[in-house]
Amino acid sequence: MLTPEARAELEKQQYRVVGEHSAVKVCHWTKSMMKSEGGCYKLTFYGIQSYQCMQMTTSMSCANRCQFCWRGYKAPVSKEWKWTVDDPLMVLEASLSAHHDLLAGFKGNKQVKPKVYEQSRRIKHVALSLTGEPITYPRINELIRLFHERGISTFLVTNAQYPEQIRDLAPVTQLYVSLDAPTKDLLKTIDVPLFRDYWERLQQSLAYLAQKKQRTTVRLTCIKGMNMDNISEYARLIQKASPDFIELKGYMFVGASRQRLVKENMPYHEEVVDFAKELEKELPGYETVTEHVSSRAVMMAKKQFNINNKWHTWIDFPKFQELALSGKNFTSMDYLKPTPKVGLSGVITKRMFTEIDSSGEMSLGEKGLGGRKILAPIEATTAPQSCQSCPL
Ligand code: SF4
Repeated sequence: MLTPEARAELEKQQYRVVGEHSAVKVCHWTKSMMKSEGGCYKLTFYGIQSYQCMQMTTSMSCANRCQFCWRGYKAPVSKEWKWTVDDPLMVLEASLSAHHDLLAGFKGNKQVKPKVYEQSRRIKHVALSLTGEPITYPRINELIRLFHERGISTFLVTNAQYPEQIRDLAPVTQLYVSLDAPTKDLLKTIDVPLFRDYWERLQQSLAYLAQKKQRTTVRLTCIKGMNMDNISEYARLIQKASPDFIELKGYMFVGASRQRLVKENMPYHEEVVDFAKELEKELPGYETVTEHVSSRAVMMAKKQFNINNKWHTWIDFPKFQELALSGKNFTSMDYLKPTPKVGLSGVITKRMFTEIDSSGEMSLGEKGLGGRKILAPIEATTAPQSCQSCPL
């Protein structure tokens, strides 16, 4: 799938290529939580333990060239699967092994407690996003089953260009569809799709998402000055997909996206919150539940997840594994846990500064009378600070 140059470039960025078409890269938040510096927004929203999460993809190729993506334009693109198909058990075992190898340097690290390091070797979650389109791997359902058999939950992100694969996908713990623009023309500008019928593919993907019984999320990457208006069209498309959750996440000026966009395209956290509040007015079935300030992310949920005045957006992972392996019919409402922290903090990030140090690390800090206080590190060079269009 990769040219030798593309492979070398990825390995330089700390990716590990697995077999012909898969890849692993340790997420920033996995390392952050191992060092007791905080987990990702999916910990806050759903209970993902970031230090036990493996970030990977089963296809490094994609049918879009999204402007906000950290991938460079040398990354493989294709509409169809053109490669040999690796065995799912090999993909699983080689990915786990690559993930552990990448973290081997943390053993003995003064910032990582030995017990935490040991626990991090027991992977409990996989984020199938990272780069490319994992859903196009022809044996994805077999791989998902293998993950569940090993007690590993599955979050999968897709860019809504492969509707049949969404329809045919086996139950995953949480399925994401990216909604990058509210209109056909803007989607073409932002996602630069290969498919001519990209808009119809998006519509069909949303329709198939609505038929899923397990947890679904529509994910919006908010790019200031580009896609943060036309709320009513967003609401119409979201209603079509009827997701359990809506995530709004500010674009981050990282990786190769810096050659296509500008820093000013990053919204402040409060601008993402305002956008969510406007969307909430158009979507009476949903409410804003919680946020993650350093990721500039806000989560909305269907009101049915508020049970007896308590939000239940966290996941009962053992229950999910049991249900997924049972072969019985089950729904999103069968593997819930209460959400420990809800509500919006009212943090104003306009008062914060973003600083890039000599190593290329970006930090979010606060300007105050007593000087500068670093709040959260953000990887600025090549890596996303959370999963692909991813997401994740
Ligand atoms: S941001 Fe995604 S890959 Fe990283 S720890 Fe969270 S769920 Fe896992």
